[in-house]
Amino acid sequence: MTPFSLDAVPMLARSTVDRNDESRVDPARLAGLWRSGRVIVVDRKGRSPVRPDGSGLRDRPATSVADVPPAEAVLLGEDDGVGYWAVPVEAELTEGTRPPPNSWGVWPGATSSDGEQWHDLRAIGSLLDDRSAGLLTTAVALFNWHARARFCAKCGAEAGIANAGWASRCAGCGREEYPRTDPAVICLVHDVAGEHVLLARQPIWPPDRYSVLAGFVEAGESLEACVRREVCEEVGVDVRDVRYLGSQPWPFPRSIMIGFAAVADRSVPLTIADGEIEEARWVPRVDVRAALAAGGAIDGLILPGPTSIARHMLAAWAVPHLRD
Ligand SMILES: [Zn+2]
Repeated sequence: MTPFSLDAVPMLARSTVDRNDESRVDPARLAGLWRSGRVIVVDRKGRSPVRPDGSGLRDRPATSVADVPPAEAVLLGEDDGVGYWAVPVEAELTEGTRPPPNSWGVWPGATSSDGEQWHDLRAIGSLLDDRSAGLLTTAVALFNWHARARFCAKCGAEAGIANAGWASRCAGCGREEYPRTDPAVICLVHDVAGEHVLLARQPIWPPDRYSVLAGFVEAGESLEACVRREVCEEVGVDVRDVRYLGSQPWPFPRSIMIGFAAVADRSVPLTIADGEIEEARWVPRVDVRAALAAGGAIDGLILPGPTSIARHMLAAWAVPHLRD
């Protein structure tokens, strides 16, 4: 089989803004970027107002939020001369709104009193335009990090937000910390013929939901070694020809998913890891194609959501050069 590759940029890797890190420490520049800038607001659950069809975020003039940048505002970057910011908000929302058409829809949205539809990145990420997807991914990553970086890891004193959201600074010892990202590998394992893919499900997932195997990189471990270890631990199979495919940020709360392909012998019996995996099986390519054609699910097989790199990898493998 010809090795497959990802034929497009993964959904949450489509950022278009210039991060412009020099602006983050330039107070005059920051003030100007606020005056002419746009803001996305994000609630504690990572939801932001979107257009009714989900095609983009509903940003607003920064000066409609505050005259000067609030302490918790983060500068996401610049695009076409416009500064884009994010501000965390306590929004009064009515829960349970239906997601826009064609979104994954596992995570219901919410409605504000003025009728704005709020959705989270997992539900809406694949519908958003490139700029919106990049903005919300970065905003969620930064706010999730700040929520867990309130105290200094060295002396325990309280830490404040610095560098327009791109650092925390300890009030006690002055130590600075920068946003953390945890690397995780995710691997599409197929058989030698390339006609079957190894999928597994976790006990907490809805019935029939399957995905490719994934796990966090351990200290002192290479990405390739992590792929081999995770697959072996989870299903008892040795893989070879480990090959990089692509990556995307996955800020839930702070991962980057690093995608690989690998080959395994389908005749080797699968040995399931207790607790972590409930079931694993080799799924024929025709079944994955049928599920993709049906919008992500057929009887007995629900694929990962369209925002995930897992879905992207499965589509690239099952239907080369044809996006689902
Ligand atoms: Zn400190």
